[in-house]
Amino acid sequence: MKRRSQTVPCVGSRSIESIRDDFPILRGETGRGIAYLDNAATSHKPAVVIDAVRSYYEEANSNVHRAVHRLATEATRRYEEARKKIAAFIGAPSERSIVFTRGTTESINLVASSWGGEFLEPGDVVLLTEMEHHANIIPWQLLASRTGVELVFLPFDASGRLELDRLAGLWSDRVKLVSMIHVSNVFGTLNDIESVIRFAHDRDAPVLIDAAQSVPHGPIDVAALDVDFLAFSGHKMCGPTGIGVLYAKEELLDAMPPYMGGGEMIRAVWLDRAEWNDIPYKFEAGTPNIAGAVGLGAAVDYLTSIGMSDIQAYERDLCVYAIEALSEIEGVTLYGPPPGDDREAVVSFTVDGVHAHDAAQMLDREGVAVRPGHHCAHPLTRKLGVPATVRASFYLYSTYDEIDRLTAAIEKAKSFFI
Ligand code: PLP
Repeated sequence: MKRRSQTVPCVGSRSIESIRDDFPILRGETGRGIAYLDNAATSHKPAVVIDAVRSYYEEANSNVHRAVHRLATEATRRYEEARKKIAAFIGAPSERSIVFTRGTTESINLVASSWGGEFLEPGDVVLLTEMEHHANIIPWQLLASRTGVELVFLPFDASGRLELDRLAGLWSDRVKLVSMIHVSNVFGTLNDIESVIRFAHDRDAPVLIDAAQSVPHGPIDVAALDVDFLAFSGHKMCGPTGIGVLYAKEELLDAMPPYMGGGEMIRAVWLDRAEWNDIPYKFEAGTPNIAGAVGLGAAVDYLTSIGMSDIQAYERDLCVYAIEALSEIEGVTLYGPPPGDDREAVVSFTVDGVHAHDAAQMLDREGVAVRPGHHCAHPLTRKLGVPATVRASFYLYSTYDEIDRLTAAIEKAKSFFI
């Protein structure tokens, strides 16, 4: 196999070295010492994001939307500017469709609780898939136990792809929503959401997409997709933790009741009733994560400056290289589709005779950071019949050398345990 680590890799016009230089944690000792391959869990943060958060606290710290003094005005400007940037980044027609949440988990809970609680009735069906992250299972189970809504699951096949040809057979006029993962956080499968959205819309059902693993890694256009709800997390896309987004079509947000009550989400309050604020504020009760939103705005600027298509192309090259290198190691079993257009840079595997947690611990000793476990997708790993997998996941600053370090560390772990 051609060791691509001998060439100078680039993302678009930027060399990986210069990109890595943008990330303080990758400079110096930490960067050289640790091959960070746990990007599906969370990404590192570039200096521009850290600076935007610091600058917010140093120059604009205040609460938003309330006071009229100049700090409050500046804080509100930065917060709302971030909302506009995020709307543009995902192709949303208006920033009114962008609700700031704590992350993908909260975004999905918001929809299940508010939209599901208001519009679903006992016997209605929410169609999910067997490869969902718990964040897109549990909110619906909670709703089901409260309301009598039923859950139906589209299966995946041995290659880690959804069995889309079974969609029609599982469908009935009781299906009132499809909620599904875009890119699997275990298999790396890029699901054909375009087809599912068309299929569901032809039958008048809206679609929610869990885009936690897709928005950070490639271009997305919610208007072109005509998707109804889209959820993602800032911390997986170079932004701070504790900030995320729910995109929803304006008419859906308008029709939905609030998720949480409190300040900011109201227009007027009496002792026995209240009027709700306009969207998106109706869904942002209490003081929001202002610094987080500002940081996410900076992250979106940063990713845009590099180019989402270039990031996706580079990560796919890394994925090919990783899969080729791992499949050369005897005893390694890979999960998920082979490299291709329906595969992103998340690679899960097991090593014969070595438990995933032991492997990950050995890898850590070699300075390689991966994730062992069920990856918050118990039903998926249960169906695979493995207690846990090791997951290596890449981002725009990952390198071929880091993959070489991963494979060398696996060989070492094997020789230790077997
Ligand atoms: N959905 C998927 C596919 C994920 O990979 C994750 C996180 O790993 C989540 C949802 C939950 O994201 P968060 O913990 O940021 O809310």
